[in-house]
Amino acid sequence: MSKKNKQLRWRFSYKSLKYPILIWVLGITISAVCGNLMQDWRTALHGAVISTTVAFASYLNLVLPLAYIQWARKSAMIILGSYSVLYLWLMRMENPDISGFMIYALQNTWTLSVLAFLLYTIILPIVVGRAWCGWGCWIAVLFEIMPFEHNGRKGRIKKGYAFQLVFLFYILCLSVGIWYLNIKGASIDLQQKSIVVTFWMVLLGYYVLGAILAVVFKDNRAFCKYLCPVAPVQQFFSHFAIVKLRGDRSKCRRCMACEEACPMDIKIVQYVDADERILSGECILCMRCVQKCPNEAFRPTFGLDLSFDESIRYMKSRKYF
Ligand code: SF4
Ligand code: SF4
Repeated sequence: MSKKNKQLRWRFSYKSLKYPILIWVLGITISAVCGNLMQDWRTALHGAVISTTVAFASYLNLVLPLAYIQWARKSAMIILGSYSVLYLWLMRMENPDISGFMIYALQNTWTLSVLAFLLYTIILPIVVGRAWCGWGCWIAVLFEIMPFEHNGRKGRIKKGYAFQLVFLFYILCLSVGIWYLNIKGASIDLQQKSIVVTFWMVLLGYYVLGAILAVVFKDNRAFCKYLCPVAPVQQFFSHFAIVKLRGDRSKCRRCMACEEACPMDIKIVQYVDADERILSGECILCMRCVQKCPNEAFRPTFGLDLSFDESIRYMKSRKYF
């Protein structure tokens, strides 16, 4: 079959239903249990909407012609990103950002936003790596519609990771400052208002800075690489992710199409050559390498990578030691 026909072929099969159904059943069950425990039907409904969207998008990702699979991910991102922000903001008046997590921690308050934060920074990365960044993030959703899909620089700026750590420190200090000045000891109503205003202030800052970085570096994902304050935490836990892509060494012809398409600048072929899964904590499971490989060498795999090899490699590449 010619390369063009392969790209345009629908990939229907009964097997494609297996994982979407599993995701849906698991999601609905967890949402119902959480809703029941919290005695809150809105939590159950919210979980049901998210599980249904994820299950449907993963089904589309498995059956759409390769040429169109990015639509599965992008539509999931638009629905999940905008829905979660609107739901947590309008219906619950909460802040699911790291700034909110810090303020809730100082207040010793457990809310759905704290759960959401722990989910996308720690729990999901251990299961599916940084799929959140590729499929659901309410910050990156804006950058997905910008025109710089590929990194215009061909690589990262030197020591760019340092900005991320400084920005994380800044957001944490800002949150402590806002808590101390505006929230500590205030009435419940004022506390809630201050937390929501903080969310929108920080979110607007992320969008403006992210858009500027995208234009300057000609790279939609520049914010994720140089500023996102939660990315360092997600990266660490993603090293141990159960679901990761693997490239089949025997199918790879070293054409480098996957590396050229990767928005996160991952040296994919090094993993393929070493017969390893793509262990990098940077992989956002965007599926561009899957889409671009002319030999269909990539597939998702399940496994446990409990060694610290990748973390050590990562720290050495960043010259931490
Ligand atoms: S790195 Fe940060 S901004 Fe980028 S997708 Fe992940 S969580 Fe969102
Ligand atoms: S390795 Fe593949 S799935 Fe991961 S970020 Fe790069 S292109 Fe996307």
